[in-house]
Amino acid sequence: MAILVRVRFAPSPTGLLHIGGLRTALYNYLLARQTGGTFVLRIEDTDQTRYVAEAEGDILDSLRWVGLSIDEGPGVGGPHEPYYQSQRSDLYQAYAQQLVDAGHAYYAFDTPDALRALRERGDGNTAYHTATRGQMRNSLSLSEAETADALAREPYVVRLKVPTGETIAFDDAIRGTVSFQSDVLDDQVLLKSDGLPTYHLANVVDDHHMGITHVIRGEEWLPSTPKHIALYNAFGWTPPQMAHLPLILSPTGGKLSKRNADKMGIPVSVRQYREAGYLPEALLNFLAFLGWNDGTERELFTLDELVQAFSLDRVGTTGAQFSMDKLQWYNQQYLMAHTPAELAALARPLVEAEGFSITDEALEHMATMTRERIVFVHDIVTSYRYFFAPPTAYNAKGVKKRWKADTGALLNAFGETMTAAPPETAEAAHDLVHGFVAEREVGLGKIMAPLRLALSGEMGGPDLFEMLVFFGAAETVHRIDLAIERIES
Ligand code: GLU
Repeated sequence: MAILVRVRFAPSPTGLLHIGGLRTALYNYLLARQTGGTFVLRIEDTDQTRYVAEAEGDILDSLRWVGLSIDEGPGVGGPHEPYYQSQRSDLYQAYAQQLVDAGHAYYAFDTPDALRALRERGDGNTAYHTATRGQMRNSLSLSEAETADALAREPYVVRLKVPTGETIAFDDAIRGTVSFQSDVLDDQVLLKSDGLPTYHLANVVDDHHMGITHVIRGEEWLPSTPKHIALYNAFGWTPPQMAHLPLILSPTGGKLSKRNADKMGIPVSVRQYREAGYLPEALLNFLAFLGWNDGTERELFTLDELVQAFSLDRVGTTGAQFSMDKLQWYNQQYLMAHTPAELAALARPLVEAEGFSITDEALEHMATMTRERIVFVHDIVTSYRYFFAPPTAYNAKGVKKRWKADTGALLNAFGETMTAAPPETAEAAHDLVHGFVAEREVGLGKIMAPLRLALSGEMGGPDLFEMLVFFGAAETVHRIDLAIERIES
């Protein structure tokens, strides 16, 4: 019988959800949905010093915004409540005790000074482990009576007694067999002197308790995994299938840290992408490809299609390069896939926030003209503001090159022609303009560029004949008047 997949996303609420975190959540979600398994959200909030109050709300909001629904976790509950590690201290303490009782862990009373001296030792043996633990102050080096006394009077931590001379190996679904020599591992602190667990203990206890079958997380956690395997071994538990995702690299190489991302103007939090106008489906599709592809040239996948196509064995090991251009390309692709009506509905609140009023029909018409030219919905009110209000400035180069002494008169005459027979289709507008220049025996360029300048202030843009239909005769005449007044004065 196949085992039901149970995966978890286990963020620490130390700040706004990072895009790397969202990629981890996505891969976990994809595996869960593909297999009919369960996607768990667990908040790893044991580190009080790094706790950020708004972080948890932001994690939940961000997951909701992109549509990654959770099956168990904060807000939805589930059989393993509570899903906050800060509320599970008793469990971790009991398990730490169990390891001490079984001889797999021990109490340590070393002062910060003693630990610093160990780290600064000149002989290279600076780890707290098999070779050095006998020289430190702990329940292995002290007698039973001394230990009891120290426990009563001194602060202490619980450390894992990493076995000597063993190879600690595990299978990584992405990297194959990974192995470490146990002798290089520190005797990891499991319980801190405040009685709270470290990440390592809490993570292992919870993954086991919550029946997690696959641990899918970023490569930065790979060095922790041998410690976790040592812990699973000490408990006598079978570890979950591990899978460590490749690093996300900055466009110029190197890890995409918050610092170098800031320097390059790359946002790192999901919230920033949301506020910048990215569509959730574009962001997810982009993130899915930071480390995975389906083996073909295909790049566009909806979330449902990703669920079908995803597999861990097509996740790479080499770092995945972040590219803002690629992300914008995705956004553009998803915007183009919207119908004009859908685009108009997305744009409507932005249009109204700018104080413009426009009918649904006109907004859809405008969306039809601009949908292949915009990267963000808000481009509709920024780059294409002139659809809602006359331009306030006119492209200087264009004016210099195209606005001649006779332009004003020609445009006025065109305005009259248009008012007499307002075109209702782009084709009719085309015929009107062509008829006008033929009759006056002037080149097409004499009217097209100045007309575009008058309507938009710009030299390029959507089809001019469509624009004439959109604005209609009265507005076109009004804008011609304004342009003449402003350009010629
Ligand atoms: N709490 C860790 C984090 O913030 C979880 C790492 C893991 O998935 O084990 O990413």
